[in-house]
Amino acid sequence: MLTIFNKRAIVRLVFCAGTGSRFGSTYKRNHNYDYDLIVIGGGSGGLACAKEAIQHGAKVACLDYVTPTPLGTKWGIGGTCVNVGCIPKKLMHQAALLGEGLHEATAYGWDIPNKEQIKPDWNKLVESVQNHIKSVNWVTRVDLRDKHVEYVNGLGSFKDAHTVVATLKNKSEKILTADKIVIAVGGRPNYPDIPGAIEHGITSDDIFSLDRAPGKTLVVGAGYIGLECAGFLKGLGYDATVMVRSIVLRGFDQQMATIVSDAMVERGINFLHKCIPKSVEKQADGKLLVKWLNTEANTEHSDVYDTVLWAIGRKGLVEDLKLENAGVVFKGTKIEVSEAEGTNVSNIFAVGDVIYGKPELTPVAIHAGRLLARRLFGGSTQTMDYVDVATTVFSPLEYACVGLSEEDAIKKMGGEENIEVYHGFYKPTEFFIPQKSVRYCYLKAVAERSGDQKVLGLHYVGPVAGEVIQGFAVALKAGLTIKTLFNTVGIHPTTAEEFTRLNITKRSGLDPTPASCCS
Ligand code: FAD
Ligand code: NAP
Repeated sequence: MLTIFNKRAIVRLVFCAGTGSRFGSTYKRNHNYDYDLIVIGGGSGGLACAKEAIQHGAKVACLDYVTPTPLGTKWGIGGTCVNVGCIPKKLMHQAALLGEGLHEATAYGWDIPNKEQIKPDWNKLVESVQNHIKSVNWVTRVDLRDKHVEYVNGLGSFKDAHTVVATLKNKSEKILTADKIVIAVGGRPNYPDIPGAIEHGITSDDIFSLDRAPGKTLVVGAGYIGLECAGFLKGLGYDATVMVRSIVLRGFDQQMATIVSDAMVERGINFLHKCIPKSVEKQADGKLLVKWLNTEANTEHSDVYDTVLWAIGRKGLVEDLKLENAGVVFKGTKIEVSEAEGTNVSNIFAVGDVIYGKPELTPVAIHAGRLLARRLFGGSTQTMDYVDVATTVFSPLEYACVGLSEEDAIKKMGGEENIEVYHGFYKPTEFFIPQKSVRYCYLKAVAERSGDQKVLGLHYVGPVAGEVIQGFAVALKAGLTIKTLFNTVGIHPTTAEEFTRLNITKRSGLDPTPASCCS
């Protein structure tokens, strides 16, 4: 196996030797390794980096391997986002929103007989979601083949700083060498260290392909994943409870986080505040008995659930990499990188969720991977800007933001007196007929107080939050001021236009509730 692989590699090396001329690139090879680049990890960051490097004439191998979850769930190429993250999450969120829409449709004149009997079919939903994922996996593999990226379905580890061992499914090994190596192994969910956690709990790695309806579910963790999963589960008709250890959405603007969780409570999602799980036991009837501690009251509680989902954060996947063989330094489960995504070893780089202290988001991994490849093989000097990255929490009423939270703006500007917050509740036109609650439709612009008032952060809770904030993120990056925002004519009737209609400051103490839709 080894010999065949190396022979193939030599043939390819001869074919590609000299100038990396594919796509007219000017990249000049000056080494004798099998590849110019090995990427370990075929997810958002790794694939973007590999494909971009090919465009510049590099010879690239990309390793990807998924270790099954304790429940045995596994998936194909493409990484977290495609298989067990953004994509299945958004599809299930959409399924939940459609359920809401069906119930609203009657108010808009749709005649839906037996509305009360409308129920989701979990297995059908999972099948549709998984079919879509499999089609994306297939397209990804074809794309890699067409672009001549050598895909290796093996678990990568370092032998030395230029040599990677790929352990294949049948336990045989392939040895690959490269001038440069990019680590893009992403992360996997944490499990708490309590009895029954691994045996009886599941994570986001399992939920999107679960072969039974989840039923009454306890979601432990109140970050993005906890809120999103609890949100779509409730939307699909399952009883959902979020267990919060300290605060909801740590790191986000806390006024907005409270609005998001209040909106979830209004939809019937339960919250257990200041609680930590102690144990999970499987009862004779197959249900799960969960015991927990309320850390504020110091009281013990228990309840029975059909499913327990851990959403307590994720760890970087450094443990299989044998980084010590290459001399790469790591911090906990993450790798600290320079501004140019370099590790402490000069030919080894890292991008995506595995790097320390940067947003764990797909577009971040993709952009960083692409820019890295351009610098390594295309003569570019542009580095990744990790500041002011917009994001959305796909909670039932979505929350999107870009820039600083109000708390961080106060810190950065040296006090409340140096910032101005324009805010308002609003009423989406489409909410009126079905009489949907508008109680939590709220937005705010956090700005400097002086001059043209540079906008520091924009926050929006409401429908299609990501679509609303994306364009404003461009404006904020371009130096948006309150003056420009207020000189912008809105598009009516939309919810995005509400940003151009903001006129009440928090400081004024005036009521930010609108009288009507068009006032
Ligand atoms: P990954 O996409 O995780 O890819 C790493 C790949 O490397 C994986 O396939 C892994 O199996 C493989 N691998 C690991 N170790 C090895 C090894 N030693 N050898 C070979 N292969 C290896 N982000 C958003 O922007 N929007 C969202 O809506 C969103 N929703 C999310 C929802 C959930 C439930 C989760 C879990 C995440 C979500 N994210 C979202 C985050 C997003 O998925 C990640 O930020 C993104 O996938 C990171 O990309 P990556 O390339 O760093 O890692
Ligand atoms: P997270 O945002 O770090 O949240 C983890 C949550 O679990 C926090 O509420 C934390 O509470 C709690 N927690 C941690 N350890 C715990 C324990 N032992 N017991 C009980 N609770 C515990 O992690 P995540 O929600 O798993 O998401 C991971 C990353 O994926 C995010 O950072 C995000 O970048 C990415 N993601 C993005 C999207 C999106 O873009 N829409 C969606 C999903 C995920 P404390 O606050 O007390 O620490």
